[in-house]
Amino acid sequence: MIRTKIVATLGPATKDEATLKKLIKTGVSVFRLNFSHGNHDEHFENIRIIRKVSKELSVPVAILQDLSGPKIRIGKVEKPFPVHQGEFIEFFFRPVECGKEKNRALLWVDHPEVLKTLKEGDLIFIADGSIRSQVIEKTSEKLIARVLLGGIISSRKGVNFPGVKLPIPCLTEKDKKDLAFGIKHGVDFISLSFVNHADDVAECKALIKELGGDQPLFAKIETQSGVEHIDEILELADGVMIARGDLGVEVPIEKVPVIQKNIIKKARNLGKPVIVATQMLTSMINSLMPSRADVSDIANAVLDGADALMLSDETTIGKYPLEAVEVMKKTIEEAEKIYPFLQGVGEPVLQDEAISHSCAILAKEVEADRIVVFTRSGISACRVSKFRPNVPILAAVHEEKILRKLTIVWGVVPAAIVTETKNPEKMLKDFLRMALDKGLISSKDILVVTMGSQIGKVGSTNMIRLVRMEEEVATLYPSSDS
Ligand code: ATP
Ligand code: MG
Ligand code: MG
Repeated sequence: MIRTKIVATLGPATKDEATLKKLIKTGVSVFRLNFSHGNHDEHFENIRIIRKVSKELSVPVAILQDLSGPKIRIGKVEKPFPVHQGEFIEFFFRPVECGKEKNRALLWVDHPEVLKTLKEGDLIFIADGSIRSQVIEKTSEKLIARVLLGGIISSRKGVNFPGVKLPIPCLTEKDKKDLAFGIKHGVDFISLSFVNHADDVAECKALIKELGGDQPLFAKIETQSGVEHIDEILELADGVMIARGDLGVEVPIEKVPVIQKNIIKKARNLGKPVIVATQMLTSMINSLMPSRADVSDIANAVLDGADALMLSDETTIGKYPLEAVEVMKKTIEEAEKIYPFLQGVGEPVLQDEAISHSCAILAKEVEADRIVVFTRSGISACRVSKFRPNVPILAAVHEEKILRKLTIVWGVVPAAIVTETKNPEKMLKDFLRMALDKGLISSKDILVVTMGSQIGKVGSTNMIRLVRMEEEVATLYPSSDS
């Protein structure tokens, strides 16, 4: 069982039911729907299939709705084509057919007002900076740029203007419509792109509430400003994503690894989940052989303390989505063999967290096999996870929605839905029976169990109990003649 969770982006390579099933069986616990691509009909279908497959497999999986934010993109490209160093790209202010004529590529972008603010000498990057060009001329209808770094131009790739402040708000009109759609169809998490300040998070959270949602919001950190304001952003957001694609263009790329470590540390101190994203297994987009660098990157993100790692191109347009998930899972497993359990969380331990902290310590001291958390809102499971115990955390909840919310949290197995009763003893026994049946625990296990004496009350966790299954088993199945 892996503690660090895998998030996979859905795309053309992974839309069908059979592939989704295999992805879940291989280890994906969260699917990301990128609202920069595809329309509402397609996403509706994605949501339907994910829910269906999850139900059929009886495995809780969550859906992360990723809002595009103010990302500027080129128009649709029918057939990908190359541009070479020294050639030219013409960026039109109006929609044109994207393509190539001799040594000139013709493109348009979806926010022409931004193009109009550029001047000679400014840089225009395409596809997370893999293609680079510099403006040499501006006319009334287009910018002409010289290619500095060539590559393949394909449909709807992102465009960056390093050092230029975009005159577009973080939450665009499109995002607002997408958000209404996502909430209507019950996505589990939402992520907001290009968060620059806490205000961006506040605005999106307010809108989620207004639309009747209560989804946790992940702030995507991918700009210089986002990095600078990380403390205030983390204070308000429910989690963060280190979106290294745009981040590696917006800040000097050599700073990305240290930024990643710092953000993970800060998020972990607050007990908020953190996702590391983009180019985790780029080498496997077109090949079965992962690069050593990619595999090391995954292992290091695990050891940095990330809650979840994300795949993008690898599972959207890659040739080997299943194999990529498999490699990611195996690499996580190996890295976790030397995981610094019970370390890396700042002191002092807050009063609210004392019980969870004690569970983690106790589990190690008694050499327990599992921690079991009964939690109504999911918070108690997150609090135990924060202390990175050396044994899996089985979460028992009362609602499917909460089960799904825990799919992204480090070390938590969203184990079961138990019916609320006033009797904690009965609830525990019901759970133990179910967990034995499902093979989540064995009849020899030692368990550290935590729950509230007042069942159903959020924040009432106040008990820790040590359960030795050898002694408990007899009481679970009383013989009929007794
Ligand atoms: P972001 O900056 O939000 O990560 P992105 O364009 O990099 O946006 P990813 O989700 O990282 O998108 O996926 C990588 C690539 O996979 C995209 O650039 C796109 O070519 C393709 N892709 C992703 N989702 C879809 C989809 N639903 N339909 C078609 N292509 C998709
Ligand atoms: Mg991307
Ligand atoms: Mg991005």
